[in-house]
Amino acid sequence: MNKRFGSVWVIAEQIDCRILPVSLQLIGQARKLATELNTSVETVILGDQMDKRVQQLFAAGADKVYLGNAPELAFYKPEMYTEMIVKLAKEHQPEIMLIGSTSMGTELAPLVAARLGTGLTAHCIDLIIDDNKILEQRIPAYGGLISIICPEKRPQMATIASGVFPHPELDESRTGEIIHLEIPHEIPLRVQTLKIVREEPGGVPLESAPIVVAGGAGAGDIEGWRIIAGLSETLNAALGSTRPAVDEGWTELETMIGQSGKMVSPELYIGVGLSGELQHMVGIVGAKVMVAINNDAKAPVFEQVDYGIVNDCREFVPMLIEKIKEYQEKKITC
Ligand SMILES: Cc1cc2nc3c(=O)[nH]c(=O)nc-3n(C[C@H](O)[C@H](O)[C@H](O)COP(=O)(O)OP(=O)(O)OC[C@H]3O[C@@H](n4cnc5c(N)ncnc54)[C@H](O)[C@@H]3O)c2cc1C
Repeated sequence: MNKRFGSVWVIAEQIDCRILPVSLQLIGQARKLATELNTSVETVILGDQMDKRVQQLFAAGADKVYLGNAPELAFYKPEMYTEMIVKLAKEHQPEIMLIGSTSMGTELAPLVAARLGTGLTAHCIDLIIDDNKILEQRIPAYGGLISIICPEKRPQMATIASGVFPHPELDESRTGEIIHLEIPHEIPLRVQTLKIVREEPGGVPLESAPIVVAGGAGAGDIEGWRIIAGLSETLNAALGSTRPAVDEGWTELETMIGQSGKMVSPELYIGVGLSGELQHMVGIVGAKVMVAINNDAKAPVFEQVDYGIVNDCREFVPMLIEKIKEYQEKKITC
């Protein structure tokens, strides 16, 4: 008989009572991993008035849901969430624990891993079970993909961004077991969310944009960056970036595409002044047509795109913008 392993867990996340898509995507992947391990998928969800949302977790593939449902869990509280998840994990000994690489997940996962004394691989772009029934946690590194494993400690923990795994088909006929969790009131909270102030995102959202213009270090400075942003505006595209552009302060972290940023799948992707490092390129594998503008003909990005333009982006992009505007005006007058 096949050995039965501990369950595959997904720590689901909610904002305003809505379960994030990444949590459902992870449950879909957890289902596949659980089948290979001959085990079940279990989900933890903490929030307020979440009882009416639990069915979504079952529909996505969960067999059991640990539900923490109380007003004090409405907002993510690192100490309370960590305490509850660690206590549960110690009690039930999951084999694998998956968490979304969201703002919450990237903080919560290491807090939980440290308390459980186990390993954690951040920003995985694939997860498979190897021949020894160990979780291979794949990340881009050293110019390729590497697998990280955690052979001894349990659970094997990984964070994964939204869009890495597809949205599972929801089966509304599925049901499962709900375990209601006690809320620990005695935990001293040093960090609390008092209110959430929402910023209206400007421009076209990256994840759903048909055209994405992404800028990189080759912009040179904020002036160069504005030129790239101008191209994005002219094309009514979403503006994406590489990590150096974020580090330089030219753009916000929310625009970063790649392993630790967003996954995009536009009809057209234009990468400007970026080298084509795998950590960025994994974020655009779903793009249909890819174009790169780089002043170095040997830049690795040219081996990965459909069309390459070898030119200085600060000179070429303003000319391109002019041409696009001429074309747009002609189209309007025709
Ligand atoms: C764990 C980890 C996670 C990471 N996650 C991400 C991630 O999610 N997303 C991400 O983007 N990065 C990520 N990185 C960083 C990544 O490894 C690269 O460092 C980054 O993508 C490189 O950005 P770049 O191409 O803009 O810069 P560079 O690699 O410095 O390339 C700049 C390019 O611009 C060209 N150039 C220079 N001047 C001009 C000009 N005037 N006109 C045209 N071209 C010009 C150069 O020829 C060069 O090819 C991660 C790294 C690690 C270690």
